[in-house]
Amino acid sequence: MMKKTLTLALLTILVVIGILLFWRGLAEAPSHATSGTLTTTTGSTPKAPSFDKTQYSTTDPSSIWVVVNKQHPLNPTSYAPTDLTSVGNGQYMRAEAATALTSFFAGAKAAGYTLRADSGYRSYATQVATYNSEVKSFGQAKADSESARPGYSEHQTGWAVDIGAAGCDIEDCFGSTAEGRWAAANAYQYGFILRYTDANTSMTGYRAEAWHFRYVGTQLSNELHKENVTTLEQFFGITGGSTYK
Ligand SMILES: [Zn+2]
Repeated sequence: MMKKTLTLALLTILVVIGILLFWRGLAEAPSHATSGTLTTTTGSTPKAPSFDKTQYSTTDPSSIWVVVNKQHPLNPTSYAPTDLTSVGNGQYMRAEAATALTSFFAGAKAAGYTLRADSGYRSYATQVATYNSEVKSFGQAKADSESARPGYSEHQTGWAVDIGAAGCDIEDCFGSTAEGRWAAANAYQYGFILRYTDANTSMTGYRAEAWHFRYVGTQLSNELHKENVTTLEQFFGITGGSTYK
């Protein structure tokens, strides 16, 4: 009697264990599928890492992300890059920007447009002469809206370039030429941004310049394009505007 009960108890336990294992097996396969489905439908997958805005300096004049405007002069104001490279037409840019500009111009060529560099790197001394001649010709107010004071020009970093096309060099007309429109629309693919537009004058402190492009690298130019942000000031939360520091 005792033996029979024990056998029955053991059998019951075995059956219960068997049932539990069977259930677990049944439950496991669909549970994986379910969790997989949940991951994709609820969007609980880890998000792509957000853009790291601290990757490069915005104050070091040798940085591709340096922000130079009327509130932020180059530091030191006498800064001069060491790796200036020819971009043709007697103009120079820093090596990385020069390589990018070559690709930019090749892309234009492939689309049927010929672009040229009208003004690349300008030294502090050159900017003194440029600014003074603008003041002499148009007065300080107009000079300030069109030309940077020495030590405040992006051209001194070696990252900026004024682009022109046949018959339209450093003139508003460039913006309405097919070349100018192509350049404005495609610059970001080569790491450049059209720096001064009608829409962002209050941020940049400059009137629209359809010809002035700034190299920032494709990582940032693509991000700005994606976010539909046109100024470095807005993107990095840096002051700008038309008032000199
Ligand atoms: Zn310029």
